Formats: sequence, structure tokens, C-alpha cells
Amino acid sequence: MTIKDDIFVSADALAKIAASNELHGKLVLRYVTSDEIFVVHGVETSRGVRRQVDIPREYHALRAGNGSYDGRWIESPSSALHVVHAELRRRPGSMMTPADFKELSGVRLDAGMKTLIVITHDAGLSEDLRAGGVETYAGWHLTRDGARPASIAVEPATHGLKQLEGLWPLSELSAMNIAVVGCGSIGSAAAEALAGYGVGSLQLIDPDRLLWHNLVRHSLDRRSVGRSKAAALADSLTQRWQRESYFAHDVDVVREAGVLRALTSDADLVLCAADGVAPRRVVSHVARRAKIPAILACVLDGGAIGEILRLRPTPRFGCLLCLRANMQERGAIDAEADQELDYGTGTAHLPMTAAPSDLKYIGALAAKAAVATLLESRFGDATQRLPSEHAVIGLRPAGDLHAPFDLNHAADVVWRSIPAPRPECVTCNP
Ligand SMILES: [Zn+2]
Repeated sequence: MTIKDDIFVSADALAKIAASNELHGKLVLRYVTSDEIFVVHGVETSRGVRRQVDIPREYHALRAGNGSYDGRWIESPSSALHVVHAELRRRPGSMMTPADFKELSGVRLDAGMKTLIVITHDAGLSEDLRAGGVETYAGWHLTRDGARPASIAVEPATHGLKQLEGLWPLSELSAMNIAVVGCGSIGSAAAEALAGYGVGSLQLIDPDRLLWHNLVRHSLDRRSVGRSKAAALADSLTQRWQRESYFAHDVDVVREAGVLRALTSDADLVLCAADGVAPRRVVSHVARRAKIPAILACVLDGGAIGEILRLRPTPRFGCLLCLRANMQERGAIDAEADQELDYGTGTAHLPMTAAPSDLKYIGALAAKAAVATLLESRFGDATQRLPSEHAVIGLRPAGDLHAPFDLNHAADVVWRSIPAPRPECVTCNP
């Protein structure tokens, strides 16, 4: 069945109808031709008083309509009207005669009027009828031929993250503050995923601007070229999630480690998606000192594998340098050096070669690891236990790497533990 001419009613339109002392009134609707929807733009709240409906700027499609169409809203006198609406909706093409509609709703076409859009509200609808698929709001297209049921989209009292209330530990995560170091392709994907999990505050840290060549892999689009990655990402998340707690810091954590120390003193976790040796080492060190966990995410070997590393400040697990020293002894590639053209310079990074969606996949998995770590450690959520500390993820593995990077399959994820601190480590043994 093709659904056409749906009627859209915003929360403000509903509020205006609800606040009216009348049982019926006129409506003004606009039609959006490209999307075939009617949108309520004006409500008569008392006899002869018509008020403009507020539709927020972001709702481009709902504001795009033009023309002026007559409508009526009524408080339905009985539930029979909405029961018939539900029955007619199950039989596409069916309609009620104008006389029957007049009898049930009291509404008919005035002389000279060809068509009327009617929105009926049944405040007294029983639980049983509601469970049977009868709806509180019903839409109608009334013509000389009859009243055809229309599908109606009514803005609910709450939408967005609040919909997760009771289904996901939203209030716990709302109180969490995560520092995201590196807002490139992996970091922007991780930040979006963290916001989507309902993490309340994000400190977005990156010294770079968004350039043309970033567009293919970044979550931001061409509108943000030239802007600071951190600031543009904060704005994008604020727009997407309707929260004012995403903060941008145009900071290089290597040159300005003090800023990172200050930010981590209030943070519950650091997620590092910056590439290169230096920032990852700084994050490992600063997070350990701040006694908070760090999640480090990157891709290695030209995008062949992804790596997610969880560093927890406990005597059981060492820092990044302790892990790498241990891996070197076992003959694994040096993951940090692999990200640089010239090991040790700390500046010339390898051009990013991974596929855009592989990077988003690693970013989302890093966010999952971060949120799971907080939910398990802070709130004892046993469903959020990770398998271990170090994940290696197959993206396009050639099967030619030494353990632990010796994967043979795409989308394979292998978790391993990490070694205890080395006795001589200054990060682990201050
Ligand atoms: Zn260490």
C-alpha cells in the first residue's frame, strides 16, 4: 500500500489544541509536494483566534510546505469514530459516506468547499481499544465523495535519548564525562557512538582543521571544511542529540599535556583515537596518573587490522609502553611505529589507507568498550563485561603478521589480556 498525504502534527500544534477551551476549531495546513505530506501550521484556539504553530528551524521538510489548506480539529464525541478509522485503515481504498461522517463527528463540508482535512482526538479512548490498534489521534480527508482515513504523525511528548529511559542505563551514562583525544575519522565515529549511548559530557580534543581530503573518512561533511574538527564535531553532536555538554578543545595533547591533565582530572575515561606514537603515549601516561581507564583505538598495517586497547590503572595491567615492550620481545610489529612514516619523528603520519566504514567500525567498537568499562566498573553491570583488555580486529588481514595481529578473517575479533607492569616502568610505578 502506498501511503500518501500523511498529516504531520507538531507538539506545539497539539499543545495549542489542548490549551483551547473549545471542542473544535479550524486548522491551516500546508502541503509539501515533494514528500506528499500535510503539515499543521495554524490552529484556531478560540472562536476567530488563529495562532501560528511553532515548528523549529531544524525541521526543514516540515517547514517546506506551501499553499493553504482548510482543516478542522475536533474532540471526538465518542470512540465509535476512531474504531471506524481503524477498520477503514485495514481496508485500503475504503471510506465513510459524508452523512455517516457528519453523524459521528459533526463535521461536514461547507457549501463551495471541495476538501477538508480533519484531525480528531479521542481523549476517552479505552485501554482495550488502544491495545486493539485504535489510535488517540485520527486523520481524515473529507471530500464530497466521503471521508477517507489518513495516516497521521503526531509528535510525541518525548523523543530522542529520553526514549531510552528505562531501557538502557541512561541516567548512569548521563553523569559520565569522557575525553576524546583525536577527532579524526576514528575519533569522530567514536564520539558519535558515545553520544548515542547517552554519555552526558564529551571533551573533544584535536588541534586540526577539517580539510577536503578528510571528507571521505570523517563523520563531518563539506559544510565543516575549514573549521576546527573539535568545534565542528561538538556543534554537530549538539544538533544531533540536543545536548549542550559537548565541549571542543583545539589542543595538541603532546605540546600541551597540561591541558590534557586538567581535562582528565574531571573525566571518567579517556578515549584516544589520535594516530602516531606521541599522543598515544601521552594519553597512556596521563590517564594512569589520573587513575582513570583509557581506551586506545587505531588501525594498523595500512588498514589491514584494527586494534582496541583498554588500559586500566590497576597493578594487574601495565601501560601502553609495558604492553609494547612485551610485544616486541615476542616479535610483534611495533604498533605505534607502524602509524608513522619515519619512526621517532612523531610528525609524519602515514596517509590513512583504511576504508571509511572500517574506521567507523573501529570507532564504534572503541566507544562500546569505553561505555562497557564504565558500566561494569562503576555500576556493576555484569552484562557489560568485556572479554579482556586487548582486541585485534580483522579488516582486510593478509594473514602475514606475527601474533597478536595474526588474524585471517575480516570482522574477526580476538581479545587477549595484557601483561602486568614492568618493575622499571615510570608510568606504572610513579
Ligand atoms: Zn607501564
